[in-house]
Amino acid sequence: MQTLFIVATPIGNLADISPRAITVLSNVDLILAEDTRVTRTLLEHYNIKKELLSYHQHSGRGVIGKIINFLENGKNIALVSDAGTPGINDPGNFLIQEVINNLPETKIVPIPGANAAISALSISGFPTDKFTFLGFPPHKKGRQTFFRNIEDITHTVVLYESKHRIIKALENLRQLADGRPLVVCREITKQFETTYRGTAEEILMKLTANNLLGEFVVVVGPKPKKQKTEDEE
Ligand code: SAM
Repeated sequence: MQTLFIVATPIGNLADISPRAITVLSNVDLILAEDTRVTRTLLEHYNIKKELLSYHQHSGRGVIGKIINFLENGKNIALVSDAGTPGINDPGNFLIQEVINNLPETKIVPIPGANAAISALSISGFPTDKFTFLGFPPHKKGRQTFFRNIEDITHTVVLYESKHRIIKALENLRQLADGRPLVVCREITKQFETTYRGTAEEILMKLTANNLLGEFVVVVGPKPKKQKTEDEE
């Protein structure tokens, strides 16, 4: 039976890929890649020679039809994104839905691996028995509401932000969720990996033009519990 593998790839360090992912990528008939140049670098590193087809967020119905055709013909396909786990703030979900709708007999198999949000959470030290993942804040419209809503979430929150807006995000958090502890992870698994811990105010003082390059995950710690007054005790 045809299989669609959803394969996690490294988020920086090329060694962060499972032996199983390498086996799958070596054995499938076709690899769907968000950016074929990025995936080609990974495949070359592991000496994998495989046909690539571009599949990204703007791929139209034509490409999806072609992929479903391949599966219909019994081909096994792997989907990868540029970094991390496909479908997590990356292309994949729509394709998977289409495959479920059009070829429900297809096996859809995850090949787990790196993910930036989970990596940041894992070193945050904040409670992770319950957390909310919010993805990227909107650039303009809805941005204030996005951050204001964080105030209503009392447990740990994780979000992605680009280098262009990380300062703005910390300013938003300083205004709206003042006092909550944060962990900001920059360039996880890469040469300039840095972890900043503190309030938004404290981290803003540490982030300068020199360390604003790269990719960021922000983890917002749980809302501090209000101290009980003597009357409430
Ligand atoms: N699918 C990916 C995953 O599993 O983490 C996420 C893709 S999303 C388009 C890209 C965002 O993830 C970046 O803007 C950044 O916020 C975060 N990210 C990815 N790699 C990262 C890294 N090495 N260090 C810090 N953040 C990273």
